[in-house]
Amino acid sequence: MTRRFSALSLSFLFAAGVSFGADLTEQYRATADKLIDASLADQEGYSRLTYLCYRIGNRLSGSPGLEKAIAWSVETMKAAGLSNVRVIPAKVPHWVRGAESARMIAPSDKTLHMLGLGMSIGTPPGGITAEVVAVNTFEELGKLGRDKIQGKIVLYNEEYRGYGSTRVYRATGASRAAAYGAVAALVRSATPLAMQIPHTGEMNYDEAQPKIPAAAVSPEDAMMMASLAAAGVPVKVHLEMGAKTLPDADSGDVIGEIPGREHPEEVVVMGGHIDSWDVGQGAQDDGASIIACLQAVALMKKLGLQPKRTIRVAFWVNEENGGRGGVAYREFVGDKIKNHVAAIEMDGGAETPRGFSAGVDAASMEMLRQIGKLLDRIGAGEITGGGGGSDIGPLMRDGVPGLGERTAGTHYFDWHHTEADTLDKVDPEDFRKNMAALAVMGYALADMPGRLVAVAGGRRGPQ
Ligand SMILES: [Zn+2]
Repeated sequence: MTRRFSALSLSFLFAAGVSFGADLTEQYRATADKLIDASLADQEGYSRLTYLCYRIGNRLSGSPGLEKAIAWSVETMKAAGLSNVRVIPAKVPHWVRGAESARMIAPSDKTLHMLGLGMSIGTPPGGITAEVVAVNTFEELGKLGRDKIQGKIVLYNEEYRGYGSTRVYRATGASRAAAYGAVAALVRSATPLAMQIPHTGEMNYDEAQPKIPAAAVSPEDAMMMASLAAAGVPVKVHLEMGAKTLPDADSGDVIGEIPGREHPEEVVVMGGHIDSWDVGQGAQDDGASIIACLQAVALMKKLGLQPKRTIRVAFWVNEENGGRGGVAYREFVGDKIKNHVAAIEMDGGAETPRGFSAGVDAASMEMLRQIGKLLDRIGAGEITGGGGGSDIGPLMRDGVPGLGERTAGTHYFDWHHTEADTLDKVDPEDFRKNMAALAVMGYALADMPGRLVAVAGGRRGPQ
């Protein structure tokens, strides 16, 4: 009987009203409790995260920090007793920020809280000085048209309505403004919290438009300038950015595993991204996630637990400004993709875990709910629709069932892509619970008799 058939027959039995009760729940309860107890008592994981955040720091693609983190990760996976530890090579974009600043010079002189957007070009030497045109939406931009925008700096003062719908201003705002002759773009940071902190992040140019420099400003600075402009007060800004993009750099994904005891060729992969922005420490995004995944597998090793299939931890590179690590991993898997039983991605910080989202069929959802019950004792058993994030996108597109590890996410976008994404934001107890959730889900998926069946359309997570 093929595994595909077993999943189908499971659907049939559910449809026929046959109750499986809590098969997987009972089968894995003892192992799950061991993994949860070990996770909640673990000190080593947080100490590894401390090293990554405080001794290595942020890890933008192309930076020495990233390469240091990769070398350290290889050593750390080996020290954790993982097998087949290796780096999967990937060429990554090499953007450097350079010196940058912005000042409002009229109606008063004030330093603006800014961060250039990743992949932006710099300003010409000496910077750009121009009047500011403020809009709240792309629709307003279109209404103003070239007459009002030509030669100006466009400020997007878009209100935060959730990350997905707000980040589009950051990602595409510069080229949309350039289409009307703007000389630079400023974007209100994509965050629900106004604390005079700018949030960087990736932007992309539309090759059909002239490239103009783009920077994020704090919500407060955006609101102030937009309010002045709305009152008819001319606002002038001087912007200087030394950003540039160098030739692609050599880098790579780091992987390590516990080979399966019965089906080593079948793989459950779980991980997050090792790169971060060049500010803060990449603690919540995404250092805590990769170390929680590593430590979840390290604890299996310590407890002498070897699932039937291979359980692999992956630190994908370049999630933030290119996604080359996810693509390199997909190429590494090659035509053995059918052997990828599941992929779990964690890229939403390590606040209190809630559970997992999955892009799988109804019978598979039931299996996940049975596993989820094992995590109810730490409040992490909720199974919802959705899927994983961008690192496992290339796997999900080719049919691998994708899961996203979900947390409360209460403050994630307060810190995201800022100087404030530092270790102190990662609560050690929440971190350990995330580790427990990953350990239990990862182990059960790698060991259970059946396999998940993907449905199309697993979603992309934050970038
Ligand atoms: Zn991330």
